Amino acid sequence: MKVVIMGVQGSGKGTQAKLLSKKYDVPHISTGDMLRDEVSQESELGKKAKEIMNHGKLVPDDVLLGMLKNRIAQKDCGKGFILDGYPRNLTQARALDGFTTIDKAIVIEVSDREAIKRIAGRRSCSCEAVYHIFYNPPKHDQLCDKCQKPVIQREDDKEEIVAERVKVFHEKTEPILKFYEEKGILVRIAGEQSIEKVFEELLRGASTKGF
Ligand code: AMP
Repeated sequence: MKVVIMGVQGSGKGTQAKLLSKKYDVPHISTGDMLRDEVSQESELGKKAKEIMNHGKLVPDDVLLGMLKNRIAQKDCGKGFILDGYPRNLTQARALDGFTTIDKAIVIEVSDREAIKRIAGRRSCSCEAVYHIFYNPPKHDQLCDKCQKPVIQREDDKEEIVAERVKVFHEKTEPILKFYEEKGILVRIAGEQSIEKVFEELLRGASTKGF
């Protein structure tokens, strides 16, 4: 089961990817999380990526491709994977197509307004747990429920940067939808519903197309 999950920032794609990964017991591969790990380890790659990410731009394609190929070659991807955050442009979609066959490409659709509203309230922990100040706050005083570290607003979740990321999504990522549509594997899901409803629709939509 090789699935790509797409959507503008704040669409809930990460949340849905985690649910799918749990249900089907295949790894959730988030290129954003992988890059953030590199940044926190201060690796060469991380140093290069940090500024680009903080400005809401895309990290170069060759960096991503090398990183992703290594990850997918690992044993735990034998049964498949849920890819979250890759591909982000047509070059990446074609590159991915060159070394593996994707079964389904899911896009979670929300308006820009909703996306920006959700992201403005998003808070994250370095352990990769994600919260929202109104919809899903941590139980105790801005401390992560899982590891008790303080939750923070990601640099690239700040308002001006979010606007740039949304723009990049429309310019660079949206053209991929047509690419997958032409292959007959695109599934569109209405994202402005509860997490549970989106997940139900996703399972239903994907299964009618041979998940
Ligand atoms: P995300 O957590 O998926 O929103 O990713 C955070 C940031 O990491 C993005 O704004 C990009 O700067 C970078 N990034 C993640 N995935 C990719 C990708 N496939 N191609 C280029 N840059 C990426």
